[in-house]
Amino acid sequence: MRKLNVKTINESQTRLLGENIGSLLMPGTGVLLEGELGAGKTTIISGICGSLRVEEEVKSPTFVLAWVYRGICPIYHIDLYRLHQYEDLENIGWEEIAEESNIYLVEWADKFPLPYTENSIRIIMTLGNEPNERYITIEFDETLHPHWERALMTYVDIGN
Ligand code: ADP
Ligand code: MG
Repeated sequence: MRKLNVKTINESQTRLLGENIGSLLMPGTGVLLEGELGAGKTTIISGICGSLRVEEEVKSPTFVLAWVYRGICPIYHIDLYRLHQYEDLENIGWEEIAEESNIYLVEWADKFPLPYTENSIRIIMTLGNEPNERYITIEFDETLHPHWERALMTYVDIGN
């Protein structure tokens, strides 16, 4: 796994990082986001969706578990926060969502182990010391995506 660390100091930087990440995503890939409420998961997703040519408003799927947006392909925005048991993943049709023809963006992705996500980028967001600071770790399999690191380098400091 390759691991990159970045710090953002405001919302628009986080959105811009999302735009960078979004430009790497192909159908059959996705983003798994972890981080507490207010960490910036939906913000980064809105940047990602901008790059994927989504024109609808992007917001957390609070009352439903999943939104689907129209972009370069069907883009699924999923929030596992209110998912109570692993079996519910079947109810939202996770297996179909994770198929080759879609892109998936999952908030609270650490709540349950998600199958079929080897291709994904994992993003872990934590609050910094200042109110608008966020520490963001980006992880992916560099053997599956050898060009992602270079593409992200313009934006990201290399961590360990
Ligand atoms: P989550 O989906 O993780 O609950 P949101 O993206 O909905 O988080 O909200 C993040 C909140 O934090 C927004 O109100 C945003 O304005 C604020 N914020 C402040 N600084 C940042 C930053 N550096 N990156 C992202 N959001 C930030
Ligand atoms: Mg959210």
